[in-house]
Amino acid sequence: MYDVVQIHTHKRLFIGLLVASLLVVGLLVLSIWFLVFSPERSMIYKFVLLAVALVLLVTIMLAGIGLTAIVLTIIRARPFALLQGPTRVALNTFFPLVLMLGRLLKIDMNRIKNSFIEVNNSLVRVMQISVAPGQLLLLAPHCLQNSACVHKVAGNVNNCRQCGQCMVSDLLQLRDRYGIMVGMATGGTLARKYVQDYRPKAIVAIACERDLTSGILDANPVPVLGVTNLRPHGPCQDTQFSFRRVEGAIQYFLSDGSDHI
Ligand code: SF4
Repeated sequence: MYDVVQIHTHKRLFIGLLVASLLVVGLLVLSIWFLVFSPERSMIYKFVLLAVALVLLVTIMLAGIGLTAIVLTIIRARPFALLQGPTRVALNTFFPLVLMLGRLLKIDMNRIKNSFIEVNNSLVRVMQISVAPGQLLLLAPHCLQNSACVHKVAGNVNNCRQCGQCMVSDLLQLRDRYGIMVGMATGGTLARKYVQDYRPKAIVAIACERDLTSGILDANPVPVLGVTNLRPHGPCQDTQFSFRRVEGAIQYFLSDGSDHI
């Protein structure tokens, strides 16, 4: 119950900020429009401003359609295949603006990013994506590893001895149980390399809010289900994850899409 309430609150925050961002850009277009038709300007000046205003207007319209598609997709729990493009414009183009607005309004960045992750997960879940185990990549951060462990598992998870002192052994358990690919990354560069090398059709990613949001945007158009990590010892040290949520995400991609996180 707690999860459901939290998740709905999360989605509302991101969508609310997205609407506010659209309004801000809309005001910008109106200002440019005013400048265009104000006197004492040359024709070229007016033409350039008009072109900029039109580009912004088209972007707003696409993002507006995308925003409507996001809200309707979440409400109906069914995707709009034809509106995938505008949905991506709304998510990708306006995300930096959403963050900027959130910063101005002094909203916690992690809350906004969590909200984005929940919106993304909802959109992926309703698409009912089904892939073979060999096409699914489970990506995890190397800070899952016990900080006292001497084995070098980042880059090669097979070096883990599965002693059970940290959740790297749980990753291997999931890999062996479902026959999926697993990668442990020290950062965005190695994560992108895994995606390039393995060419997965879908990704389950465990990370902090910051890495998950950038990872989801980077991986586009590969669908990503993001699970935020648990940080009982603070950021980047001996982190953990919810086994139930990660396994649920794997099962979603491997089944007919009916099992959700
Ligand atoms: S499970 Fe044990 S061997 Fe594997 S990474 Fe964790 S501490 Fe090291």
